[in-house]
Amino acid sequence: MKAGGTKAGAVLAALADLVYPAARECLWCGRPAVRPGRPLCPACLDDAVRDGPRSAPAGLVAGRAVAVGSYEGALREAVHRLKFSGWTFIVPLLGELLTGAVAQSGLWTADLVVPVPLHPRRLAERGFNQSALLGAAVARSFGASLEGRALVRTRATRSQVELGPDERGRNVRGAFRVPHPGLVAGARVLLVDDVLTTGATAGECGRALLDAGAAAVDLAVLAIAGGDTV
Ligand SMILES: [Zn+2]
Repeated sequence: MKAGGTKAGAVLAALADLVYPAARECLWCGRPAVRPGRPLCPACLDDAVRDGPRSAPAGLVAGRAVAVGSYEGALREAVHRLKFSGWTFIVPLLGELLTGAVAQSGLWTADLVVPVPLHPRRLAERGFNQSALLGAAVARSFGASLEGRALVRTRATRSQVELGPDERGRNVRGAFRVPHPGLVAGARVLLVDDVLTTGATAGECGRALLDAGAAAVDLAVLAIAGGDTV
């Protein structure tokens, strides 16, 4: 089995196979994956990006926005495996998809990539912030800086998915803070998140960054959940 042609790559792939046997197969349709560590087959990858990149939801506080695709099918499954099964080895693949959408949309001119933060308790439970991993991949691709400390979540919030439209705004209002405004002052920020539900979270992050002096805040997400307008 080839893995990028390097010994280190082969070792990593072998480890991924040990830890994640399913990584050999497409996580959505079960057909063989093309390469270990990239558990989506070409057909499902095409499906994941079929309706993307998509542009800004109306009313979002942040400026322009782009998503790889809809939060359904293979893309939804990939996000679930990352967040809830700890499949961090899928980040390079998802990072590539997000980077592609950002490149096509022209949002790559940002100075600074800022991930939507998790509350410290959620971060401790999960062990990683998926948005920070995705943000790092995007920042690396474009030679931009990643600033994981720019935003902090000052209180734990419920998952937006559990809430009705009215509750979602209240749930995240005032939940984010920029502890060191000097980190973002004058910068064009690309905010990165995994899933956009109503845009309330991204909107609050955008507001906090702009209040702290950011010159602009655009948004890149992997997936837009159903019902969101674009
Ligand atoms: Zn597939």
